[in-house]
Amino acid sequence: MTTVRERQEAREAAYLAPHAALSSVSRGRQRPEPPCPYRMIYQHDRDRIIHSKSFRRLKHKTQVFLAPSGDHYRTRLTHTLEVAQIARTISRALGLNEDLTEAIALGHDLGHTPFGHSGEAVLDRLLPGGFRHYYQSLRVVEILERDGRGLNLSFEVRDGIGKHSKGKGDIISPDPNCRAATLEGRIVRLADIIAYVNHDIDDAIRARVIRRDDLPATCSEVLGDSHSARINTMVTDIVDRSLEQNGAELAISPAVLTAITRLRDFLYERVYDNPTVHGDFIKARRVIEDLFHHFTGNPGEFRTRHYPAYRDEDTLEQNVGDFIAGMTDRFAFAMFEEIFLPRPWMIR
Ligand code: MG
Repeated sequence: MTTVRERQEAREAAYLAPHAALSSVSRGRQRPEPPCPYRMIYQHDRDRIIHSKSFRRLKHKTQVFLAPSGDHYRTRLTHTLEVAQIARTISRALGLNEDLTEAIALGHDLGHTPFGHSGEAVLDRLLPGGFRHYYQSLRVVEILERDGRGLNLSFEVRDGIGKHSKGKGDIISPDPNCRAATLEGRIVRLADIIAYVNHDIDDAIRARVIRRDDLPATCSEVLGDSHSARINTMVTDIVDRSLEQNGAELAISPAVLTAITRLRDFLYERVYDNPTVHGDFIKARRVIEDLFHHFTGNPGEFRTRHYPAYRDEDTLEQNVGDFIAGMTDRFAFAMFEEIFLPRPWMIR
């Protein structure tokens, strides 16, 4: 008798587009395990990511504005949900595997440091092997989650997570080695950029770091004048251009690609490197540096008191890097306070 999962796999094979990644032909998990009788492999992966501790911590990690007290600013969690929504829309419109797309999108930033990209830049400088959040996301799902056992995800989800970003590199990479093995994974990379370019503009206007009229006029002409118009133009363009190529590869028209690149450059100049935003990041950088030097300078205390998940197969620096990368903004502040600030004397 066939299982519920097998019947779903048969339906998937019948209705998905020819270039979709079918659940039934996945290259499988890191370690073999019996399949779920109900869920297909990528559905199962998505559920594992949602139930992970790293996923819950995204709620208190910076997107652009540090530990914002305003309720409407994005955090790493709401960024992740917006990426998943945009990626699923493109994926479904192209007849691709929405479950795979969603799992990659929800897992793509699990390795992000506290304090956004400035946290990433500090760890990159401090760790002998460097630090990139996309490799750390992979490390989280392959090793660190579930007390060092990892989430044991499928190859396709891990591949998409590890290749979702190349920092400020090409939006569509000409180098096949940089591209995800599946179209679903490549969609997440585009959806990530579409999401952050648009919501970072929205948050920067909210924070009065820029005004709506500051946006380059050439971008508004191509993409539209509002947040939703811009997202809609980008998504529609990718879907339509890709369908014109029979969905074998993702495509985007040159005018839209140029406008997105221009908007991203504008964000770097006016928002990410803005002195007000950047000033806070310089302070946050000190927090990470001081914690790093404290932990590496006191390995005994680090292992016993702070990081029981210590992995003997890795260096001290790597363990400290894993611990700091996993912190939320508020946890890093609290740890800094505990270690470096005197405690008010309570006994009268
Ligand atoms: Mg992201």
